[in-house]
Amino acid sequence: MSRVFRAYNVWPDFPSISISGEACSLDCRHCGGVYLKDMAQATTPNQLVTLCTRLKEEGARGVLLSGGCDRQGQMLNLEKMLPAVRKIHEMDLIIKLHTGFVDARMARKIAEAGVDIASMEMVGDSKTIKLIFGIDATAEDYLDTFINLWNAGIPHICPHVCVGLHEGKLKGETTALELLKTEIKPSTIAIIVLRPTKGTKLARIRPPAGEDVEKTVAYARKLFPKTKIILGALRPRGSELKGNLEKRLDIEIGALEGGIDGAEVPSKEMLAEVLSRGFKVKKIQAYGVLPVEYEDRVRSEF
Ligand code: SF4
Repeated sequence: MSRVFRAYNVWPDFPSISISGEACSLDCRHCGGVYLKDMAQATTPNQLVTLCTRLKEEGARGVLLSGGCDRQGQMLNLEKMLPAVRKIHEMDLIIKLHTGFVDARMARKIAEAGVDIASMEMVGDSKTIKLIFGIDATAEDYLDTFINLWNAGIPHICPHVCVGLHEGKLKGETTALELLKTEIKPSTIAIIVLRPTKGTKLARIRPPAGEDVEKTVAYARKLFPKTKIILGALRPRGSELKGNLEKRLDIEIGALEGGIDGAEVPSKEMLAEVLSRGFKVKKIQAYGVLPVEYEDRVRSEF
């Protein structure tokens, strides 16, 4: 029997919304708030409900709620938005929330608001945390957020682990995965890859290689043999590689060799490789962290 490879496409069924607009106080070196500019914006509860009502009418099946953070890495506006998040939940939209750091009280409020999927980066090295985010925090502080989300009973906890976050070099990815293993059961692990992004302080770094991605995915697969592991859309995908699409494919094939179950926005070359390895491809209109049991709520086809 052939194995299924899940190919995810986010647009147009799962739009991203920034609940802080373009505001962010952290100015992380790999992002600098650049990614917020590509999101829809809703900075008040009323705006969020109005926007989601319209998106639902236009056919959206779910939303990603994200946004900028304060200097401690907590999401701006999150608490005041939670009553509106509850209303979105009642519209039957699937909600993925990028949480930022949360304590036990905030995690419980997020669970009460009906968030389906909570995601957050997991970083395994305090030097990387300081270098990239400018925060004096440890890997255990990141883990605490996951423990709080887990203990609050949020149905699906989906950590993101970024390969090469330390300016393109491997450092702390294995620790991040090992710590996660000790305390929670992730529903999906999203492996993302540092993308040198125009307009950020890391625009000119050399991105990680395919073998770095393979090593990290293979380790995740070893620690979490039964967990869905996907390659996230946030990875070098061509333009930043000076047109060198072979490097894009290196990363995708590295992830495949490591043992991923699916990828967001896979290239057609990657899909050809997947088929040649005997997988059946299931195309799904959603984020890669979509739990398998939610797939009948979104558009998909083999
Ligand atoms: S990663 Fe998040 S917190 Fe950091 S600069 Fe970008 S939006 Fe702000």
